[in-house]
Amino acid sequence: MSKVIFLADHRNGAPASVAPGDPPPHGQPALDLRARPLRDLRISVTDRCNFRCTYCMPREVFDSSYSFMPHSALLSFEEISRLAGIFTQLGVEKIRLTGGEPLLRKHIENLVGMLAELRTPQGHPLDLTLTTNGSVLERKAAALKSAGLTRVTVSLDALDAAMFQGMSDSGFTPDDVLRGIDAAADAGLAPVKVNMVVRKGLNDGQILPMAERFRNSGHILRFIEYMDVGNSNGWNLAEVVPSQQVLDRIGAVYPLEPVESAEMGRVAERWRYVDGGGEIGVISSVTHAFCGGCTRARLSPEGKLYLCLFAHEGHDLRAPLRDGATDLELARILTGIWSARGDNYSELRGRNMADPSRKIEMSYIGG
Ligand code: SF4
Repeated sequence: MSKVIFLADHRNGAPASVAPGDPPPHGQPALDLRARPLRDLRISVTDRCNFRCTYCMPREVFDSSYSFMPHSALLSFEEISRLAGIFTQLGVEKIRLTGGEPLLRKHIENLVGMLAELRTPQGHPLDLTLTTNGSVLERKAAALKSAGLTRVTVSLDALDAAMFQGMSDSGFTPDDVLRGIDAAADAGLAPVKVNMVVRKGLNDGQILPMAERFRNSGHILRFIEYMDVGNSNGWNLAEVVPSQQVLDRIGAVYPLEPVESAEMGRVAERWRYVDGGGEIGVISSVTHAFCGGCTRARLSPEGKLYLCLFAHEGHDLRAPLRDGATDLELARILTGIWSARGDNYSELRGRNMADPSRKIEMSYIGG
């Protein structure tokens, strides 16, 4: 099975053919066109969610007539963990389960258990994490931990109940999510990271209350610049609160200092409270692009590989997987795809790019 595989585009534009490549030497990561190693795999296990966050899955688009993927189209847990195993041989050390809302996928802890068995070529366990809206985390935390999950990231955009329900367009409350965070911490899923997407004129007034709520909690609160993900959220640059303003607002009350970290591929800039009150982070895709260190690949629920959050099309892995490709043939396909990668959307945002209206939805591929 060494023919050229015609796959979709992966360089911010025109379709391309990608020939399978020779996997890197054992223990070495696959490198892309910018010598970025393949280190992180984000696996979206469903395109469904029980929230309708206005910046991700606005109800006017994702309404009752929206056709979500049938279960039969989804990769099975066995297929996901087989692919994940091959990815670990190509350099992946961290796997993040996402969605939609991953905790809506039935028996997700079984998949966690399968992935927790995997080891890097050096024999190390993976850093296995999950991003959730927290609505059902209280019920699931202990089972996820005992299945082998390492830690968890929870989205929480406001403590004010009306604002939270306005932004999530759901009947859940901040308390539902806070109980989930407590259950995760009690279960030992640490550190718990809390992600807040900040929109000017909407929830930016919650920056300080959120900072105060999580100071001295041991949890790491991260502020995310509102991004032009997908095609449905009506993004407008004027609604972006630059991370520097977030740091200035908090620092004016609780002095901060930067936390130096050489970790490649991290998305958040880390800061700590000078008085020992803990750590926060800012994720600045709009004002401070971090494509240069981007080591992330994304697997969709039905088995397409995307090389950027803002990609247009993916590379179908389900077909070769179900056509009986061997692990080596799949490794050659993955190596070919990654080594031809040049994605850097955030560095080019707003400049003459291929039709931006074809971007994939974040609710499908995960954040
Ligand atoms: S825009 Fe794409 S390439 Fe840049 S950091 Fe985000 S996912 Fe990576």
